[in-house]
Amino acid sequence: MSTQAKPSLATNFVPAISRRLVLSCAAGGVSVAVCPLVRQAGAAEHSPIRFLVVTDTHLGYRDQDSATQQWRRMADELARAEGKFVLHLGDIVDGGREAHYPTYVEVRQAIGKAVHEIPGNHDPAELFQRYIRKSIDTVVDHDWLRIVLLNNARPESHDGFLAPDQLAWIDAQCEEAAKQERFVIIGMHVPVHENRHPDRGWYVKKEYGHAEFYELAKRHAARLLAVFHGHFHNGLRGWTDHAPVHEIAFPSALYNQDRRLEEQKAPGYNPIEFRPGFTLVEITPSAIRLEFKPLGQDIAVKKTLPREGIDR
Ligand SMILES: [Zn+2]
Repeated sequence: MSTQAKPSLATNFVPAISRRLVLSCAAGGVSVAVCPLVRQAGAAEHSPIRFLVVTDTHLGYRDQDSATQQWRRMADELARAEGKFVLHLGDIVDGGREAHYPTYVEVRQAIGKAVHEIPGNHDPAELFQRYIRKSIDTVVDHDWLRIVLLNNARPESHDGFLAPDQLAWIDAQCEEAAKQERFVIIGMHVPVHENRHPDRGWYVKKEYGHAEFYELAKRHAARLLAVFHGHFHNGLRGWTDHAPVHEIAFPSALYNQDRRLEEQKAPGYNPIEFRPGFTLVEITPSAIRLEFKPLGQDIAVKKTLPREGIDR
């Protein structure tokens, strides 16, 4: 854990390494057309994209006003933080308490950046459509990056669900992104990654598209950089065993719990920092850099996730 005075990201980040590798690949007598490093990226041409991730605001939590007050303070900080746009990874309101959606939207306006949400299991689809966005599953393109956003949560369950038509839709979005030479992040509230005890045990199970999703991820591995989730309230939680695709569950903006995962040697990573906050993301095709900022505090966690096969 380290602290720093200001929530800003370094500007001289990454491309140097991938550029060097690309050059050495070309210099090694391999024609550029078949060099996998060159084919994968042309990473040096992609300038870093900075954005902010917030999740699990749960307005109306325990029928008290505290979650709304915290969302107001968070919106204030998001407004001042460096980032082109904001992703909200679900559980906007707690338990579908309808009266809180207009409050969420009103506070959101103070951020002064585009905010792209997905529903969580606490957000009934019809309320999300009424107050947030008519078409739930959607795509946001920013420069060389495509963000595929979809609903894989259901109010009656903590598990995730990927219907065949959603998988086909993700597939099509990734294919189109490849044609446009874009890289892809997928955002959905519930992790796909298996996470049994001592973890939550909440994920996309076998009968709901687990294997099918990883087949898809493999097929699009040249373009798919990461899958982003909320839902866990466990601070920053992630896995790297489906490399090169990173799977990351982001810290809640309302509360996080220490499940002592590192101590119990649970797979993946879970830095010991459990205050509520938001995450600054800086991404290139070669690496994802995360900085977690607890509400009202300095940055407390920094993590760089290199893209395997390029940045090593
Ligand atoms: Zn949730």
